Amino acid sequence: MFCIRRIFDDVHDRNQNALEQVRTILSTQFIGLSQAKIDRIPDIFRNPFKYDFQSILYIAEGVSTVLGFALLSNEPQMQFSYLDFLATNKNTPGRGIGAALYERVREEASLMHARGLFFECLPDDPKLCRNPGMLKENKARLRFYEMFGARPIDNTGYETPVNPGGDNPPYLVFDNLGQQKPLNVDFARKVVKAILQRKYKSVCSPEYVQAVVKSFRDDPVRIRMPRYVKASDQELHPVLNRLTTIALVVNDRHDIHHVKERGYVEAPVRIRSILEALQRTRLFSAIPPMEFPDSHIVAVHDPAYVRYFKRVTEKMAVGSSVYPYVFPIRNQARPPIELAVRAGYYCIDTFTPLNRNAFLAARRAVDCALTGATKILEGIRLAYALVRPPGHHTEIRSFGGFCYFNNSAIAAQYLSEYGNVAMLDIDYHHGNGQQTIFYARSDVLTVSIHGRPAIAYPYFSGFADERGEGNGIGYNVNYPMPEKMDGIKYIRVLDRALTRIRQFAPRFLIVCLGLDTAKGDPTGSWSLMASDFKEIGGKIGRMHLPTLVVQEGGYKTRSIGSNARAFFEGLWSAMVSDEKAVSKIRSVSNRKSNNPKSQNSEILSER
Ligand SMILES: [Zn+2]
Repeated sequence: MFCIRRIFDDVHDRNQNALEQVRTILSTQFIGLSQAKIDRIPDIFRNPFKYDFQSILYIAEGVSTVLGFALLSNEPQMQFSYLDFLATNKNTPGRGIGAALYERVREEASLMHARGLFFECLPDDPKLCRNPGMLKENKARLRFYEMFGARPIDNTGYETPVNPGGDNPPYLVFDNLGQQKPLNVDFARKVVKAILQRKYKSVCSPEYVQAVVKSFRDDPVRIRMPRYVKASDQELHPVLNRLTTIALVVNDRHDIHHVKERGYVEAPVRIRSILEALQRTRLFSAIPPMEFPDSHIVAVHDPAYVRYFKRVTEKMAVGSSVYPYVFPIRNQARPPIELAVRAGYYCIDTFTPLNRNAFLAARRAVDCALTGATKILEGIRLAYALVRPPGHHTEIRSFGGFCYFNNSAIAAQYLSEYGNVAMLDIDYHHGNGQQTIFYARSDVLTVSIHGRPAIAYPYFSGFADERGEGNGIGYNVNYPMPEKMDGIKYIRVLDRALTRIRQFAPRFLIVCLGLDTAKGDPTGSWSLMASDFKEIGGKIGRMHLPTLVVQEGGYKTRSIGSNARAFFEGLWSAMVSDEKAVSKIRSVSNRKSNNPKSQNSEILSER
């Protein structure tokens, strides 16, 4: 069991530990690589364009062990990608780790609109590799890449030894990423020049580079015929599209929770309406929910509450509901013995019933939020957990407001093990749940824009002076707003909230998406329109953060779908166009620098 995640920084303990293990794998598997070069790896996070490429590191991780990694360099201007390293931990061989990493690298290269992925591979020709043991390893590696349709470039001088008579000179391997376009010679020459000049500056003389570039004469450049895998099998490796869309995780068991009392607006039709509207776009890729252990839930909720919720609902007949009706607020040390009576011991209102399926549906919603968080850790930019029941009113030991488990907070807790998290709650109602859960912490910033407590549920929290406590002072920010709000006023306060999040500089963003700020919502009093939701999405997308969106409220079923769609269209287009812009700006500024080829530019060469 392993997961692949992208490493975004070398600041957090968990990432530092992973990087240490990456360095160990490098030094044990790439014997010729100097320690100084290995130690420079963290530089790629501090200045990803320092080496004239945008560097991205993926690791395959077991419980706490790095099982393998891939280091990829993107050249956004010339539109190609170069794989510096793909290595697995020799102590845990096989198990598909290399293949999973290579798939991920191909996805990333495709996302960057690369025309091809290039990398070096040692030769499988006995004339070029005289050591039989090494020759066998080289053949195995080339067979592996051939499975994906990646094969050495043929009939060029790329494998000319840098030092005459040198053994084992690498091939240049080309993967067309399933695009089936021939490799144009002019493009190939530019790519080869860039690779040799930037990656191998210290070992390749200008004369050598020129000679190799000139040796590319065939147009299109010839790619070696398959040697290990039947050609028909290789066609089966198109690049998956997971990274080019929003990962959508829907609670497939939400509708078992259906409270049929009149006026219970938190109904299954909400999810159906949103899904119908999203299906009209091509922005989403559905991902099935994975199962996670209860340890994630008790990391934010009182274990006694979690046990109670499970136990009380297990004993209930299907279809019957218990509404909390005794609230022992004066003596919290003495929970009532009778389970049905005890409901009020853990609840903040009288309209959130317990019933048999509430637990099962809420438990599945948690799995969905955690699945979305896992996708973010894997390097997917945007994930959406479309769930009900919602979660943001559930505090450490109390439920309410249609919420039972705080899905967003559980995901935030999980992500916080990998870096700081900002939570932005844009539901009409105050996000009292995550406020309470993270109130004394400075690694999770909680921000909420909502109707002020005098007019809006939950009435007892959401005041501006609730700023956190202890280490958490200043890390909870509330924007209580008046009864009437239109899009213009809303965007103004959203800008303030986003400014605070930018100051915090989180590694991850979680958006608690409530659509009950919409005009005509039965639980709200504001008047946002679809165009406002699009702008809100755009503003959040321009933050350029790995973002998990978790569904909270929103009860006007006639407009909930179109508003959700508008939000995601704004969010996605801002995020994508912004990424292209950032790449361009950084590349241009690099070219203008007086030191275009840093002396470290060959940091990870293996020649
Ligand atoms: Zn709400």
